[in-house]
Amino acid sequence: MAHVELNELVKEFDDVTAVDGISLDIPDESFTVLVGPSGCGKTTTLRLIAGLERATDGEIRIGDEVVNDQRAYERDIAMVFQNYALYPHKTVRENMRFGLEQHDTAEDIIQDRVAEAAELLQIEELLERRPAELSGGQQQRVALGRAIVRDPAVFLMDEPLSNLDAKLRVQMRAELNKLHDELSTTTVYVTHDQVEAMTLADQIAVMDNGQIQQVGAPTHVYSNPQNMFVAGFLGSPSMNFLEGTLGRDSDGKLQLDLGTDTHDVPAEFADELEGYIGERVVLGIRPENISLNQDGIAANVHPATVQVVEPQGEKTVLELDLDTDQTIKAAVDPDTTVEMDDSVNLRFDRDSLQYFDPQTGESLT
Ligand code: ATP
Repeated sequence: MAHVELNELVKEFDDVTAVDGISLDIPDESFTVLVGPSGCGKTTTLRLIAGLERATDGEIRIGDEVVNDQRAYERDIAMVFQNYALYPHKTVRENMRFGLEQHDTAEDIIQDRVAEAAELLQIEELLERRPAELSGGQQQRVALGRAIVRDPAVFLMDEPLSNLDAKLRVQMRAELNKLHDELSTTTVYVTHDQVEAMTLADQIAVMDNGQIQQVGAPTHVYSNPQNMFVAGFLGSPSMNFLEGTLGRDSDGKLQLDLGTDTHDVPAEFADELEGYIGERVVLGIRPENISLNQDGIAANVHPATVQVVEPQGEKTVLELDLDTDQTIKAAVDPDTTVEMDDSVNLRFDRDSLQYFDPQTGESLT
């Protein structure tokens, strides 16, 4: 096992800076997920750790060793690729044996490890088949098996589930979780799918433009985003942002003027936001933290008109127009009975409010 450390890592391809000074500590035995939109540099970061790309600058450590000058095969890692990268003419057994044979592993160890991995992944009956005779999910298991038999210090996984259908993806996600519980091998996992990131990671690193925007436990990052990018990237539907001017109401309490509507800022944010009076401030509220206030008009509710009702099973997503002409999404109880064009009052959960600087995007709280 090993921890992995990236220090000020940079990778330039001609005029593109794919990785722009990343520092990240990946603890031993952790499942760390690099997540971010397409092109943000996730795969390049993983390939740098793997030794498939050479860093332009910075340092990569695996365990206590600086590995920048080591070739891929010299690093104690095993990589699982999005397209599985199985050898089509080899059987499953031969595919799983191959990496070990390349490292001159003794025959009895090879046999033991292949048998153990096949049992763990429940692919024992498939060992004599060739990849073309396997389903996508089975091929993915073989690709995992090939990594597991190597018993490396670190697993590197690049969107390994993205070629599977939605149902299989959910099933394999659970299996990966179980596998990590059993093997505890340090894992660095790349995905653009924030649900996958949230469910698999014990540490999540949200990337954008070649840089890490925030690192932490998934639930912590979700509830305490450092900036609007992270806040908007994690969560589906994504966080609503409402911009207004910060002022005071007649009692001197902080209030955000949203145009034809106002939002009362809870007292606990007063100290942090005091310095922004007269300035533009963005209020962030997640759809699941908005409820319909069905007791008639009360204090601090936001009148809105229902535009779209989208039942999604465990929740119903509403798209609503606020009186300020801004559109907002709310995820409400599936039993809620509302229809298009209904006038409703929205209540924002006071414990789930976020405030941001619209210029820098940084969180103000
Ligand atoms: P995706 O989710 O689409 O795979 P990603 O976050 O993994 O994206 P990278 O593949 O790391 O992103 O790419 C980061 C940036 O570097 C992109 O702008 C990409 O076009 C560029 N890039 C990646 N590899 C190369 C290369 N070999 N040559 C030139 N540019 C590259």
